Amino acid sequence: MAQIVTVPCLKDNYAFLLHDETTGATACIDVPEAAPILAALDQRGWILSDVILTHHHWDHVDGLTDLLAAAPARVWGAAADAHRLPPLDHAVAEGDVVPIGALSGEVLDVSGHTVGHIALYFADAGAVFTADSLMALGCGRLFEGSTDQMWASLSKLATLPPETLVCSGHEYTASNAKFAITIEPANPDLISRIEAIDAARAAGQATVPSTLATELATNPFLRANLSVVKTAMDMQDASDAQVFAAIRARKDTF
Ligand code: ZN
Ligand code: FE
Repeated sequence: MAQIVTVPCLKDNYAFLLHDETTGATACIDVPEAAPILAALDQRGWILSDVILTHHHWDHVDGLTDLLAAAPARVWGAAADAHRLPPLDHAVAEGDVVPIGALSGEVLDVSGHTVGHIALYFADAGAVFTADSLMALGCGRLFEGSTDQMWASLSKLATLPPETLVCSGHEYTASNAKFAITIEPANPDLISRIEAIDAARAAGQATVPSTLATELATNPFLRANLSVVKTAMDMQDASDAQVFAAIRARKDTF
């Protein structure tokens, strides 16, 4: 069995702890800052064994030195990003497996937000760690990759089992919702999700993780292949990737 803990960091980042109850191994996915992660480990009596970095942005790696000083661990990250990530013990690529105790994480290349961004899918934990690729009701801004790359990355994530927990890197959901509803104002799943998001945020609760099923039903970026969304964008004859690109461009200036 696995336990997953969402750790709020900085202003609106999330790190995650993934704990394997069988062996006691504990991974931290992304390290925005050390203190909240150390506190979350301490509170549970867990000992850090591994750190997985999803991409090179400062708000996902800057706490690493302080974290390792207090809790030494093996560091995993993308081989493609090794030149601009902190020193890695293990450089990985699409299809590689990251073992966390008895749990196995499959490395997915989800380039788009950055080139070399990875996601980790732990089938035994029923979770995918997506950071700034697929996000709750959104997707990461395209700083480095192309819209085709991001659409391919999102399409890959969309094939995971629908009950998979999507552990993404930021609490951006409420602002993402304001945009999503402009694309699909009549989507009943989106309308009820926004009510749930507003209630959670009013209660000070995280909206992350979500489930892939929820994202497939409500996230406009994952729905660019659907005729209902193509019609809403007035792009009935466009390719899925073109519709994705148009939605992404609209969000960039929203
Ligand atoms: Zn980022
Ligand atoms: Fe980020």
